[in-house]
Amino acid sequence: MKDDIYKVGIFEDYNFRFLITDCTNTYIETMKRNSLEHSSANLVGKSMLASFFLAFMVKEGIAVNLQLEGDGEIERVIAYSDRIGRMKGHTKHRQILAGVEDVTLGIGKGFFRVTRWGGSHKIHQSVTKLDKIPFEQNLINYINESDQLVSFVSLYVDHENEISAKGIILQSLPFTEQKVIDKLMDGISNIDLGTKELFATDISYTLDVLEKALDSKATILEEGKPEFYCGCSMQKIKSAIVSIGRDEAYSILEEQGEIEMICEFCSEKYVLDAEEVRLLFI
Ligand SMILES: [Zn+2]
Repeated sequence: MKDDIYKVGIFEDYNFRFLITDCTNTYIETMKRNSLEHSSANLVGKSMLASFFLAFMVKEGIAVNLQLEGDGEIERVIAYSDRIGRMKGHTKHRQILAGVEDVTLGIGKGFFRVTRWGGSHKIHQSVTKLDKIPFEQNLINYINESDQLVSFVSLYVDHENEISAKGIILQSLPFTEQKVIDKLMDGISNIDLGTKELFATDISYTLDVLEKALDSKATILEEGKPEFYCGCSMQKIKSAIVSIGRDEAYSILEEQGEIEMICEFCSEKYVLDAEEVRLLFI
């Protein structure tokens, strides 16, 4: 299995920047840790890629949390990424198989919520509608509403055959002239951003296809390796217990003799015995 990779670059002739990634291993790790299958797995994969793209659009040191809430069977999907592709994701219902006619992959209609975090500090939150349209279109709608930058997105997530999670976002830089945007749209219309073939091999191949279609050279500015990253810790679990309050914590102790918490993102189990819990409240 190839290593995960991302490349950030620019098509100078068009004043467009891009982020392209193959984060298949990160995706596999997420699926395994959370026992994800079927449409649930697919939607979590796409949401992780989307949160990576959204983090790419903001400045360094900010992590992005994407939350989908819909009236479909999956109900809720949450994904996080920072600008260098440290990602995680999970869903309320982990093994939903949406029908083929369900273009939303089982999440349905509802809210598309994006929160930016600087450390543990919430910086900004915005919400748009989650429509009964494919995931990629919902993402584009969100970007159009929030940033007014012209963007093209292609995501390729396969959760059962040749498991893969790859994608690209192309985005205009500020002050790009409309005629240049039109020219790029023209070039891009010659390739099908929605097909598996675009991501058939590694991402260098995908970039080759784009370079040919646009008749322009991609300049790579940054390269890195995405990874599964949770960030949970015993310290954070202890803070969570303190925040539920002494009475609640003691009543759990009474019932269970200890407090056990399982991280919903990475399935790491944290157990505190009665003495450890008491120490939190003195
Ligand atoms: Zn965790």
